[in-house]
Amino acid sequence: MENNLTLIFKAIHFAADKHRGQSRKDENNTPYINHPIALANLLTNQAGISDVNVIAAAILHDTVEDTDATVDDIEDLFGRTVRDIVIEVTDDKSLPSPERKRLQIEHAGKLSHEAKLVKLADKISNLQDIITSPPVRWSLERKREYFDWAKAVIDQLRGTNEKLEALFDKVYQQKP
Ligand code: NDP
Ligand code: ZN
Repeated sequence: MENNLTLIFKAIHFAADKHRGQSRKDENNTPYINHPIALANLLTNQAGISDVNVIAAAILHDTVEDTDATVDDIEDLFGRTVRDIVIEVTDDKSLPSPERKRLQIEHAGKLSHEAKLVKLADKISNLQDIITSPPVRWSLERKREYFDWAKAVIDQLRGTNEKLEALFDKVYQQKP
């Protein structure tokens, strides 16, 4: 019998396995899995979200984009609802980076409520990381550009979750 906790731990186990050997872009080579776990922690402990499909999708949100995990893997193991949220927050890596960035702004407002929650947590986590453990060799200008781009994405989905949006605004105020 699968309950909420078994689904969450299955997601953590799967994401940790798929992101094995990957690190964040900071000088300490922080294990990549710290980032999806940070999203799950933000959603549960800071925003009080208890929708298990949202938490599982947050944990899995970068697996299809950045590992050999497939959409079918996600559906087989975690079901269609989680699969659909993960697809919504997965960029098309065949597109050039500026186009992907533009499309995130264009699509943010059209995402499902669940995908918007994951998107909010992702941007909060990445801004927090840029403040506390930034990608190596990023200039001040690049950090500032990233902050403004993240805000342009989040501005398209306002009215989704008060706590997460307040948290985003608070971290945005720390723009370098
Ligand atoms: P990104 O700008 O997309 O890199 C940021 C991404 O890296 C985050 O969204 C996050 O994604 C991930 N990440 C990993 N480690 C960290 C960390 N420690 N802190 C924050 N985020 C982290 O990288 P690209 O190389 O794709 O950048 C391309 C874009 O950057 C171009 O479109 C261009 O506009 C811009 N650019 C700007 C330059 C400048 O000097 N101003 C120079 C070069 C490019 P995830 O959540 O998926 O892990
Ligand atoms: Zn992410």
